[in-house]
Amino acid sequence: MELSTPISSLPGIGTYFTYKLKKVGVETIGDLINYIPARYQDFSLITQISTIQPGEKVTIQGQILEIKNIYTRTGKKIQQAVISDGQQTIGATWFNQPYLVKSLPPGTQISLSGRVEAFGRKKSIVAPQWEKLTPYDKLSTLHTGRLVPIYAETEGLSSKWLRAKIAQVLPLAIDEIKDPLPDQTLKKYNLLPFAKSLTIAHFPKTLEEAERARRRIAFNELFELQLKSLVRKKQWKEEKVAHGFVLDEEKIRQFLNNLPFELTRSQHKAGREILQGLTREVPMNRLLEGDVGSGKTVVAALACFVAHLNGYQSAVMAPTQILATQHYKTLSILLEPFDIKVRLLVGGAQRSPLKGDTSKGCSVVIGTHTLVQKSVAFERLGFVVIDEQHRFGVRQRAILSEKADAGRSPHILTMTATPIPRTVALAAYGDLDLSTLDELPVGRTPIKTWVVPPQKREGAYNWIREHVKNTDEQAFIVCPLIDESEKEGFKTVKAATAEFEQLSKRVFPDLRLNLLHGKIKGRQKDEIMDKMKRGEVDILIATPVVEVGIDMPNATIMMIEAAERFGLAQLHQLRGRVGRGNKQSYCLLFTESASQSTLKRLKSLEKTLSGRELAELDLELRGPGEMYGIAQHGFPELKVASFSDYELIKASHEAAEELLESVDSHLVLKQLVENTTYIAPN
Ligand code: ADP
Ligand code: MG
Repeated sequence: MELSTPISSLPGIGTYFTYKLKKVGVETIGDLINYIPARYQDFSLITQISTIQPGEKVTIQGQILEIKNIYTRTGKKIQQAVISDGQQTIGATWFNQPYLVKSLPPGTQISLSGRVEAFGRKKSIVAPQWEKLTPYDKLSTLHTGRLVPIYAETEGLSSKWLRAKIAQVLPLAIDEIKDPLPDQTLKKYNLLPFAKSLTIAHFPKTLEEAERARRRIAFNELFELQLKSLVRKKQWKEEKVAHGFVLDEEKIRQFLNNLPFELTRSQHKAGREILQGLTREVPMNRLLEGDVGSGKTVVAALACFVAHLNGYQSAVMAPTQILATQHYKTLSILLEPFDIKVRLLVGGAQRSPLKGDTSKGCSVVIGTHTLVQKSVAFERLGFVVIDEQHRFGVRQRAILSEKADAGRSPHILTMTATPIPRTVALAAYGDLDLSTLDELPVGRTPIKTWVVPPQKREGAYNWIREHVKNTDEQAFIVCPLIDESEKEGFKTVKAATAEFEQLSKRVFPDLRLNLLHGKIKGRQKDEIMDKMKRGEVDILIATPVVEVGIDMPNATIMMIEAAERFGLAQLHQLRGRVGRGNKQSYCLLFTESASQSTLKRLKSLEKTLSGRELAELDLELRGPGEMYGIAQHGFPELKVASFSDYELIKASHEAAEELLESVDSHLVLKQLVENTTYIAPN
């Protein structure tokens, strides 16, 4: 049986199950045996009925004496059976499975696992797992009487079904599993052979054994991720050539002197690291990570300046028009004094294609994903800046780099405000060089953050009014979704449009409100932002489009509806939209949730302003998918391993480094590197 064989070729798997399995990512035999249990239920204790105590989780084996359906007053069906193990009897109860009466007639030999409860004097095993016994397999039960694997289920696809299929396929396919790790690596890191660990992970004898198997499978996952990124880094170094720039220190000093402020210590350091990268003939591939407001733009501008001095163009790609426009304004101010032409290419471009457009005569071109369009050509592209990198796909980046002149690659700087926990950086961004801005410019007043419960809503509205009415201060109110129809069963989610109507009419009729959401396009969107900047808006109601990068020095209040729907890192980013000037700023997190864990999570924003701390917390509480909010292209999802497991990440990283040179000569490693199951970033 081949690992690549489609799952639909198995008997008993038709279109229905093929569809259901696809939903959980299982399409081939290989996928199925790699579908690792989420946890185990311990039903390994097989006991005599006479010794059972209520509250215990046990397995009993015996014969069904009687079974019947009982109808409750509310019309529900309960199935009650009596089971004997030859010495004593016990009751068994199921709910709403009337077919059991037919499939388990009196006389059936059965194995039952579940929790025992007492009903008066009678003991009964409630909603037990069950399987029929034949005289031969008393010792090899699958669903009872052992550590029973529980799989991530989806509607119509039960653990019991998955378990049965896996048990059937595993022995037939396991010999096809090749271990990518050589023996000495297994020994060095104390790892089980891979095929063995898969068998154990599905059907372990003990929890310790299961844990060892999981560790091995997790190791593989991390190893694969890291080996791939090391191979990419190696190829990048070997195959790509860039123009090495020369640094004109005198001109650089002039640029810095022209700034309206002093660079912070970390801006200086990151700036130097980037400029050093630009001098090499290996193209730079560097990530600049810095909290919202830490001043990444000016660092990027410095690099664009150096590219220009060397006669090369820079492309700056931002995820939204608003941001592209803002970068355009900032970079124009910083660069035009040096006679550098800056150009903006956005939105409208999609409607009137930029056929044959080149960026001739212009040193810095700023845009959204429009920059990757075929029609946009560069004359001498030498440097690419990508802002908020997790929003861009790997492909877009690749296309943009291909716009450099033949045979050369541009230097690439990606920027993100999402702090990357060190484990994630190591595991997933191994091929990137990293620069960090770990301080905010001086003179900023720390933002005050409050979680606001429903009963304080009215008070909060009045408080907002006092702040923004007849002052130059402004507020954002962010709602998670655009209109009601988008909601996925979330009753209390505020729709920005409805909220805008409601607030304008009932709550703030005396104030100037405006609405901004993702469906408002191009020029209209810019107009709204400009109005906000000019102080003609008191409150801007918005969807999370304001999430990234907007600079509004007079905005002092950020109020977020249904805050529990956002990840901490995302809330932190939204919060960073205020507090950009020198006034005291506030962040109000509204939530209707009464869940203690949700409130605790939100309250961590009251306590810390450190984006990294919040990201690490998010990682711990919700996993990396959530940490990066909704749009997280290119971020790898781990199935078994965890980004919080620093030890294992370190070990697998080391192993990947040790084996990097053997990839070409080792077939299984080569296949591992070439398979594209994981879409790794960069
Ligand atoms: P981000 O890192 O979030 O992209 P920006 O580059 O937009 O941050 O910078 C935020 C604000 O801080 C801008 O108004 C910028 O002019 C200002 N700024 C940047 N660096 C400094 C500095 N060293 N001192 C004072 N203000 C600065
Ligand atoms: Mg920015």
